[in-house]
Amino acid sequence: MKITAVKPYVLHHRLEQAFDSAFSTFADRWACLVEVTCDDGTVGWGECLGPALPNAAIVEAMAQLLIGRNPLDIEPIWTHVYGQFRDQGQRGLTMTAQSGIDIALWDIAGKHFGVPVHRLLGGAFRNSVPAYATGGFRPVGRDRLLALEEEILRYREQGFSGVKIKIGYGLKEDVRAIELTRKLLGPSVALMIDANHGYDAIEAVQLGRAVADLGIDWFEEPVVPEQLEAYREVRQRQPIPVAGGETWHGRSGHMAALSARAVDVLQPDVCGCGGITEIRKIAAMAEAAGIRLIPHVWGTGIAVAAALQILAVLPPVPKRHAPSDPWLEFDQTENPFRMAVLTKPIQHQRGRVAIPEGPGLGVKVDRQALAKWALSRDR
Ligand code: CA
Repeated sequence: MKITAVKPYVLHHRLEQAFDSAFSTFADRWACLVEVTCDDGTVGWGECLGPALPNAAIVEAMAQLLIGRNPLDIEPIWTHVYGQFRDQGQRGLTMTAQSGIDIALWDIAGKHFGVPVHRLLGGAFRNSVPAYATGGFRPVGRDRLLALEEEILRYREQGFSGVKIKIGYGLKEDVRAIELTRKLLGPSVALMIDANHGYDAIEAVQLGRAVADLGIDWFEEPVVPEQLEAYREVRQRQPIPVAGGETWHGRSGHMAALSARAVDVLQPDVCGCGGITEIRKIAAMAEAAGIRLIPHVWGTGIAVAAALQILAVLPPVPKRHAPSDPWLEFDQTENPFRMAVLTKPIQHQRGRVAIPEGPGLGVKVDRQALAKWALSRDR
């Protein structure tokens, strides 16, 4: 079996309602999917986290390194591609692009052997996981608290047992949003907060202390990701567990964060950290360091399927009769192609999602939907 083509697809949708994170405004949804084709007709799919157009350009630049190779040589291919881009790579777009390619190779391997990826990875510890709803962004031009109230009540009604809201817009406003969310959720639904690195250490410590008694599971990306010392300071000076990792790439990037004891919860993204090949090494490092790993997920059904394959094989933590299941992050913001790219959408049932059991990632891509959302990239 040989690889004959590596092709990126850029999907785009103009949002009905733009929304702000702490530092960015989302007026569009983008995705970069990767299709790897083999000479026997087997096709695998992956997805790259982050800006779609530059990801697609780098996937195209990497493609020549894969043509003619056996797709089952996943580790040698990973090492070769990484090595060829190392000098200007190691993190950022080279890693997100490589992640999409790597996931497609695992999809191919699963289809070749007729088993789900989690079987290739050594077998599943669980066949479903709890999902938490990610939302609570600030809609542009709408009252944030009013919009938040509508959204939180919807998640409650849908049966989510956890909700993550966005903060990082300003301390007073954020405290009000967190208090309102806890009131609406009641005491039994888990609440997480995500600042998208919209604070410095001083503000992050103030925020953490201000909402410490509201039962918050974790405080995500309090400060910019390159400041591991500031992360550690936030951990030490306020009581909420600190999470982060979606922008740390490769085992080296995560090793630095683990060594600095920067977080309580490590959040690599399989579509960003280097793919399935790399996240399983990061998971082993996190386990050895005694730091919980809950993957970051932001993308289409392909990204969700890849994350679910990993969630299936994460070792139980803590080591006891009833360990806690790792959460699936389930983005609930507007994205019409999120599940439309799959012939069968991945859905939660009262806040739980089944691990796909079909070959490879366990999902099938809907080519009509791809044609509908993909930008023409012919030049
Ligand atoms: Ca986040």
